[in-house]
Amino acid sequence: MQLVLDERCRLESHLVDALKNSEFSLHFQPLIATDSRRLIGAEALLRWFNPVLGHVRPDQFISLAERNGQIVDIGHFVLRTAIEQISSWYRLYNYPMRMAVNISPVQFRDTGLVRYVADLLTEFELPPNMLELEITEGVLMQDEYQATRVINALKRIGVGVSLDDFGTGYASLSYLQKYAFDTLKIDRGFIAHLDNSEQDRELARAIIAMARKLNLNVIAEGIETQEQNDFILEEGCDCGQGYLYGRPVPALEFAAAHLEGVSSVMNNAQMAIA
Ligand code: C2E
Ligand code: CA
Ligand code: CA
Repeated sequence: MQLVLDERCRLESHLVDALKNSEFSLHFQPLIATDSRRLIGAEALLRWFNPVLGHVRPDQFISLAERNGQIVDIGHFVLRTAIEQISSWYRLYNYPMRMAVNISPVQFRDTGLVRYVADLLTEFELPPNMLELEITEGVLMQDEYQATRVINALKRIGVGVSLDDFGTGYASLSYLQKYAFDTLKIDRGFIAHLDNSEQDRELARAIIAMARKLNLNVIAEGIETQEQNDFILEEGCDCGQGYLYGRPVPALEFAAAHLEGVSSVMNNAQMAIA
């Protein structure tokens, strides 16, 4: 117990200055259409490198930042950086794709969130439908009234909202009807055992079928093998994310791996037309 507390204090003492010292950056992981393998978007994932601690995983520091309130400022950094990045890719490659950004429940309670997002979209001249915010069930459970208000306000400005990690926690089906989600992300916990668990296969199948009935986009997380890709494709899941298609990488690497190709294909096509 004492060791855990000591470690937490040590992390926290470095976390306080991390933003000021520019120790955060974003990695981007592709979201891929399962049938054509076309790029449809990217998820922004936060990275922290501290000179003393080295790389610290988000699982280790996000909850700390939520507890001490820093997550609001860190979340602003993530939103600004992600929106600036997708806007610059859009100008450079003219390739329509969406940027998914994780929003912590604490950020979601911040009344300035929608205004902040709207201002960034204006500042970077980004079409709102190119941005999608990912929230987890925790948000919905804390305060249904507030959650509905914020989700509806985001929809009004044209930003997409997805329900992340579906299938963990309470996974209440009523949430899917009650809130205006655009996308449902199936937690990678189900996908990991598709090969050897009939129960997980049935659950994944049922979630995909239900999401489609509700007209939601479905993204399966944690696709690592061709077999998993084939299974979700067969079941009608539009989109996948996982090491099979690409790991989270810095912006330059993402562009080289996933965008240079599409742009040269588009340029060739444009040249052919000319
Ligand atoms: P998440 O939102 O579910 O993000 C997906 C996580 O799965 C990422 O871990 C990603 O690296 C990992 N992943 C992707 N494909 C695969 C795969 O094929 N196999 C396996 N085993 N893992 C895969 P990461 O980057 O360590 O992030 C962990 C969590 O931290 C995220 O889970 C998210 O909840 C949180 N997080 C990350 N960035 C942010 C952020 O900017 N804000 C907030 N509030 N939370 C964040
Ligand atoms: Ca996510
Ligand atoms: Ca997830």
